[in-house]
Amino acid sequence: MDFSWSPEDLAFEAELVAFLDKELPPFIDEWETDGGADDDAPSRGIMGAMAKRQAWQRKLDEGRWAAPLWPAQWGGRDATVSQSVIYTQVMATYRTPGIYNANGIVQIGPAIIDWGTDEQRGRWLPPILDASEHWCQMFSEPQAGSDLANLRTTAILDGDHYVVNGQKVWISSAQIAQWGMCLFRTDPTAIARGRKHEGITMFVVDMETAGIEVRPIREITGDSLFCEVTFHDARIPVAHRLGDENQGWLVSMGALGKERVGSAGQAISMSRDLQKLLQTAKAVNPEALDDPQIRDRVARLHTQIEYTRLLIARALSKVLRGERGWPEVPLAKLQWGYISLWLAELALDVLGPTGALTKGAVEAVDGGVWARNYVWQRYTTIGAGPTEVQKNILADRALKLER
Ligand SMILES: Cc1cc2nc3c(=O)[nH]c(=O)nc-3n(C[C@H](O)[C@H](O)[C@H](O)COP(=O)(O)OP(=O)(O)OC[C@H]3O[C@@H](n4cnc5c(N)ncnc54)[C@H](O)[C@@H]3O)c2cc1C
Repeated sequence: MDFSWSPEDLAFEAELVAFLDKELPPFIDEWETDGGADDDAPSRGIMGAMAKRQAWQRKLDEGRWAAPLWPAQWGGRDATVSQSVIYTQVMATYRTPGIYNANGIVQIGPAIIDWGTDEQRGRWLPPILDASEHWCQMFSEPQAGSDLANLRTTAILDGDHYVVNGQKVWISSAQIAQWGMCLFRTDPTAIARGRKHEGITMFVVDMETAGIEVRPIREITGDSLFCEVTFHDARIPVAHRLGDENQGWLVSMGALGKERVGSAGQAISMSRDLQKLLQTAKAVNPEALDDPQIRDRVARLHTQIEYTRLLIARALSKVLRGERGWPEVPLAKLQWGYISLWLAELALDVLGPTGALTKGAVEAVDGGVWARNYVWQRYTTIGAGPTEVQKNILADRALKLER
């Protein structure tokens, strides 16, 4: 493993740190008055923090720090793999607020850059970057989650439009999105022919189109992060197709692969969360920290977080050396899922009864963030690939076990 950064990487880091040192404190001061905290979704939930996220993304864009991985031509910095890791790690260290268009910046924008026409790039990229238009990503369906290629929402060509019918589900922030990047089935015979990865096409959909209905789903947290979206004869212009007809699987694989870049900062965020939890416990329920079982759990969490950080570093080292095969990536996703849950469970045990109080209760600890986390963090074993699917990938590609 080689952990040293190049002079260009160090200059990149220094410029980012200087930007954050100057811009972040006044931003946080300004938004504290709104009841905000140093992270994006303490007790208000992600949807409640969207105004703050929009303002922060605009601030980042002013410094050309909203999408460093994008080409300079489109407002990015042509960041290398190591620079993208530096970026996520520095942002995690500073506990910067979340951004407004996370899907737009990480997955959708790069898909438009790679597969869009010049006209499509010119129309859709600038408002993603400056946070003036919100985007959602509409892939999952009731029978197509882990098995995405099983999707059945159809788009049938009719003149210069496609007519769309079907249903998407678990679509994050669709209720505030102007645009959605969507996978539809343009060849309905493909599944019956046993070629389900074929006959899928990527589209960009105006969420105001007649025939599209968005219904927020209320979660156990009380928030509504994601939605069900139905299509009844919704007409999508041919000009909104991204890539060629029936090329959608290829387009989507690039977009989903980009989702993994963010994992580089997770070990740092989890480590900061553990430190914050211990500080809070010392203040509200210090005796709990004398319990040998609690101390053991804290030590194990610390060790697992450090192991995850090293896993990510090893994956990066392989990428930089051009080596193929990175089982560390699904392993790190597994770790992230487990550790987030352990941390959320430890919080309730270590903080005592007031730790279980939710937002609005007089004695709620840290505005109820730990109680919210306890139910919210269940998502980490499902989102971005369920635990069992990651294990299948490891068994198949890394351990090469027989099926
Ligand atoms: C917070 C959150 C935000 C999301 N946002 C979006 C979004 O913006 N856009 C979008 O398109 N989707 C989104 N999703 C959906 C997400 O992509 C799916 O939930 C995920 O792909 C799993 O699909 P599923 O829910 O249909 O579960 P299923 O695929 O039905 O799986 C359910 C369970 O079955 C088991 N299982 C499934 N397949 C296998 C297998 N091959 N081997 C062993 N066990 C298996 C696993 O235990 C799995 O957890 C979001 C999900 C979450 C939790």
